[in-house]
Amino acid sequence: VISDRLKTIASYIPEHKRVADIGGDHALLLMYLAKRHQLQHGIVGELNEGPFQNAKTRVQAFQCDSLIDVRLGNGLSILSPHEVDVVVIAGMGGNLITQILEEGKPSLIGVHTLILQPNISSGLIRKWLVKNGFRIHQETIVKENDILYEIIVAIQETSDEIKPEILYDMGPMLWKERHPLLREKIEYEINSRKRVLNQLEKGKTAQAISRRQQIQNELYQWEEAL
Ligand code: SAM
Repeated sequence: VISDRLKTIASYIPEHKRVADIGGDHALLLMYLAKRHQLQHGIVGELNEGPFQNAKTRVQAFQCDSLIDVRLGNGLSILSPHEVDVVVIAGMGGNLITQILEEGKPSLIGVHTLILQPNISSGLIRKWLVKNGFRIHQETIVKENDILYEIIVAIQETSDEIKPEILYDMGPMLWKERHPLLREKIEYEINSRKRVLNQLEKGKTAQAISRRQQIQNELYQWEEAL
């Protein structure tokens, strides 16, 4: 059983994504998603030894350890670029959340969605988001035990930047909604181009060279989308 606050946060996490919960404490949020088969992979980050051990024990006890990693460390430093699609930071003050985002900018490369739940000072977060290329996508307020909790969902603008011509092959709606099988399709497109490039390797005619360049270009674009 999780609180309405956590349940509402969970409802904003798109299904079958790689999700990090920074300051994840009890690990309840990601375990809730894992139990509902809505999680591709989860990472709980914790600064403090107590909650870190607590999360680790709980994740193991409920046999979620193949799906959820628990990591000890400060803020976003526990993540590499492109490691997750969604980052959740909940249950802290807006100043701490903003500080974690600012210090962790390199780890935000490749992150599509931020789900932030400040207990106070939400304005600081919105200012940071707008200054740093995130678009505020959805907001809500949850009331629990007479306390109002704000939830802010933001999308990173650069993650939608994709060369228009590749959208014909990709499918603009599939890309926009991040269809669960799109990643597999992109991998398929990449592999088939690699195979063709291998076959074209030896051709020295002008035609073979220009065909190679064309496929190489397409390959770059598909790889960028991954
Ligand atoms: N996110 C959970 C929730 O919303 O229910 C837990 C919120 S709890 C009040 C805040 C947690 O953040 C604590 O477990 C604390 O150890 C952790 N924390 C504080 N600063 C942190 C930082 N810089 N990096 C990672 N975790 C941090």
